[in-house]
Amino acid sequence: MTHASGEEDRPEFRFGEGKISGVLSVALGALCVLAVLCFRYPELLTTPDLRAVLPLDAVRIVLFIADALALGFGALCFALGGSRRLAFGGIALSAAAIALGGSWVETPDAVSSTRYVGVDWFVLDLLVLALIFLPLERALALRPQQRVFRPGWRTDLVYFFVSHLLVQVTVLLTLTPARVLLSGTIPGGFQASVAALPFAVQFVLALVLADLFQYAAHRLMHAVPVLWRFHAVHHSSTAMDWLAGSRLHLVDIVITRAISFLPLFALGIANAPLTAYLVFVSFQAVLIHANVKVRFGPLRWWIASPEFHHWHHSAEAQAIDRNFAVHVPWIDRLFGTAYLPDRWPERYGIQDAPVPDGWLAQLVWPLRRPRPLPPPAPRV
Ligand SMILES: [Zn+2]
Ligand SMILES: [Zn+2]
Repeated sequence: MTHASGEEDRPEFRFGEGKISGVLSVALGALCVLAVLCFRYPELLTTPDLRAVLPLDAVRIVLFIADALALGFGALCFALGGSRRLAFGGIALSAAAIALGGSWVETPDAVSSTRYVGVDWFVLDLLVLALIFLPLERALALRPQQRVFRPGWRTDLVYFFVSHLLVQVTVLLTLTPARVLLSGTIPGGFQASVAALPFAVQFVLALVLADLFQYAAHRLMHAVPVLWRFHAVHHSSTAMDWLAGSRLHLVDIVITRAISFLPLFALGIANAPLTAYLVFVSFQAVLIHANVKVRFGPLRWWIASPEFHHWHHSAEAQAIDRNFAVHVPWIDRLFGTAYLPDRWPERYGIQDAPVPDGWLAQLVWPLRRPRPLPPPAPRV
């Protein structure tokens, strides 16, 4: 774990130094390049579901504004004497977006995809989450001194990138077990009566039952040594923020989600509450990892909070193998695995699994033969 040194005691960002404008220029410029590529090659780089609902004329306006901002922030960074690498990088990226067609780029009329990667989903989700959580983590910071670019942020951004790109593969892999196991086994009449229930009832049913199954899968990931190696990757982060929850091994994602989706398929939850559930959980998954000092008061046992899940990541002995639920903490109370003291954890991470740094190293690490470890081996 790193400790604050003289250099780290300085604020990460200060107005007037050109760093904020430089970072914004590079980030917006890179997203603009990816967005223009999505317009040019939609069959390969965009997801059919998102393509069907995104208002493209509005997206073009946003793209125009974002590219102009990337250019402007690059110039501002340069004028303020900030990092030349950031200034020139941002200006070069926004110029590349314009050279590739900018917001006027032509897009094919009829598009049908058989195989695609979700670059559009990555750009949209990163933009939306950054706009929500960067200000939120400033306003409600649990650890105000923690940096946006803290150790491991690059690794977590790669996880975020890859998991969004591979959306077609992961959705297929996570839904196939439910389709294979349940096809023809559940009476259609039962599913029709569930689908006829009020929206809110189906939503709560989806939340509770999916978390019950997720709880079982999550406990297995902690208890079975070969599975723990895949899940240990998620616990290897020593800093919690909105990006830290992205650190999930692909095997972990597929196993946990495939099991969580089983009851939703068995019940035949209708499309609208199912979509609402998916949107809610994707937001909640980010929130519970965020560096925000948010407690849910009287609701703390009813809906998982940052406080509840931070304890799941705690490196403190009494919090080990606690708080497996991710939506409804009551499930942990029911099975005697809840831990929610009236304070926040001091530190995060694991002690018994030497997970390496970097996305690729973490991808292959669980597949390697583990080196013998000295007992006892506490884990979170
Ligand atoms: Zn866990
Ligand atoms: Zn987590």
